Amino acid sequence: MHALLVEDDDRMARALGTALALRGHTVRRVSRALDALRYVHEAGFVLLDLGLPDLDGLELLRRLRTVCDAPLIVVTARCEERDVVQGLRAGADDYVVKPFRMAELIARIDTVRRRTRAQGEPPGGGPGGAGGGRSVRTGDVEVDPAGRTVTVAGSEVRLTRREFDVLALLAARPDEAHSREEILDRIWGDAFLAASRSLDVHVAGIRAKTGRPGLVRTVRGFGYRLGADPAVRGERDADR
Ligand code: CA
Repeated sequence: MHALLVEDDDRMARALGTALALRGHTVRRVSRALDALRYVHEAGFVLLDLGLPDLDGLELLRRLRTVCDAPLIVVTARCEERDVVQGLRAGADDYVVKPFRMAELIARIDTVRRRTRAQGEPPGGGPGGAGGGRSVRTGDVEVDPAGRTVTVAGSEVRLTRREFDVLALLAARPDEAHSREEILDRIWGDAFLAASRSLDVHVAGIRAKTGRPGLVRTVRGFGYRLGADPAVRGERDADR
């Protein structure tokens, strides 16, 4: 597959380029945001450094997302939680902090590409596997896996594809807690991501957009489950 490597550091670019070539990928390396925008259309996936000389990486990420759906992994020295969350919200599929282990980055690339392929499948047939089943109602929230809609107090709430997949997975077995590993394996395609913050970001998105913070309950040290009565704010949901 053809990779676009956006990296202004020569040494890092060489190391990444070599590792990608060993995996059979072809690589175009660019060191400026302007060139990233110019060549992104040809990329099968993108590795993006955020510290670039000509444009803030997050701004570039947003611009890339308006023109390209290819899997994109941020590879950056910025490790503050705020940076990670902003990166994922801006449309990154995953976020790897430098210094990283090359084997881990390669595994994440494989995961992101597999996940992206799975998303091309028809609704219900993907790894989310809600299977076009029955609607689930909890409190004033209704989740319809067949129509891929969520309504809160009768009004439809728009979730991203992956936010919906997470919610539908929890709703498919509403009385059970689901481990992080299971959710990441079924929605993201690999339990290897168990340490990834993507899941937490998506859960936060579901809670914020529905305005029902109790809709997805944290099961400490394990994972998540559907809230029993999301219309009533239950125990404080202490996330991490
Ligand atoms: Ca840089």
